[in-house]
Amino acid sequence: MIYFDNSATTFVSEGVRAKLQALTSDSLSANPGALHKLGNKAIDLYEGIRKETADLLGARSEEIFFTSCATESANTAIKGYMSRNKRAGNAVISTKTEHKATLECLDYLSKLGYEIRYVKVGIDGKPLIESLEEELNKGGVALACFTLVNNETGSVLPAEELFKTVKTISPSTAIYLDCVQALGKMPVNLSSIGADMCSFSGHKIHSIKGNGVLYIRKGVRIDPLILGGGQQDGMRSGTQSPVLAGAFLEALKEVSGEIDESRKKIQEINIYLRKELAQRGAKILSPDDALPYVLNVSFEGFESETMLHCLEIYDIYVSTVSACSAKQKKVSYVLLEMGVDRKTAANAVRLSFSRYNTMDEAKVFIQRVDDIYDQFLVK
Ligand code: PLP
Repeated sequence: MIYFDNSATTFVSEGVRAKLQALTSDSLSANPGALHKLGNKAIDLYEGIRKETADLLGARSEEIFFTSCATESANTAIKGYMSRNKRAGNAVISTKTEHKATLECLDYLSKLGYEIRYVKVGIDGKPLIESLEEELNKGGVALACFTLVNNETGSVLPAEELFKTVKTISPSTAIYLDCVQALGKMPVNLSSIGADMCSFSGHKIHSIKGNGVLYIRKGVRIDPLILGGGQQDGMRSGTQSPVLAGAFLEALKEVSGEIDESRKKIQEINIYLRKELAQRGAKILSPDDALPYVLNVSFEGFESETMLHCLEIYDIYVSTVSACSAKQKKVSYVLLEMGVDRKTAANAVRLSFSRYNTMDEAKVFIQRVDDIYDQFLVK
């Protein structure tokens, strides 16, 4: 099997499996809110995991909240910020190339009467500075929402330049940053990144599904999304799970130690695939300076889904548009927004890698593409 669908989700690492086993032992399974000594043990374990996670992300413990997924983190951050900071302004700035986790929150806010202003992006997927300036200059912007690495193209946000523009024109605007596809693939240091809220997802870095993280910079006030027993400083009620938080931490530890080495390997694979695929007439849609973990490519003569199923015959797994909307059979809104023509976008396939992929797999992939062209291309 060749699994090139790691931006959709990753396999659970051996280390995380072992950690899960250890953390589900009886002696660690008490409610972290219980007053007895087993409860104390569980809360100490949980807070220890929180501290280590914060350290690895360059944050303080009290700035880290465990959630069920990045979608929950995004909902909490975006809706919670706007709900709590009504006097900050009535407008939110973003792009139309965000993940649905952000776009649907913005749609929800627009129905509540907030004004959502979309900044245009270029063919490289990056927000255009002039368009950002124009939207900011209209005033009243409470929040700006961006994504550090686009899940469909690997396009990397020029965060420093962009955030500087936001803070220069509109110093009080808060920034939410989706870091889901960046985590473990490029350095992410929350103390210097310049964002007020960030989201992360465990299942994209070889943890299990069901664990995410929300970073809220100290001093930023938001209304919690989930109300209840007041766990996690009241920001995210619900009994804390040292198991899920521990799985996230384990995956984060594993990936953090290998960022440079893995990126070098994946870069070589990416360069090889770009060259070989281009020679076969495929169009590379990921920008040249994209993060190498995502390679979006359009195969002429094959609709996205057809190519996906042809590859599947050979036990090779890729995706069409992002997995959550793939079943709706839509052409990628991200590619269209970047200015890719509809026909090219309709033939686009996303290859996405993890540190476990190899050059040998890439070579087999190319052989299989040749087989598919030979067998299925209608000339
Ligand atoms: N943001 C981006 C960029 C993603 O790629 C994804 C998942 O595909 C999400 C958010 C949502 O993550 P989760 O599945 O943890 O809710």
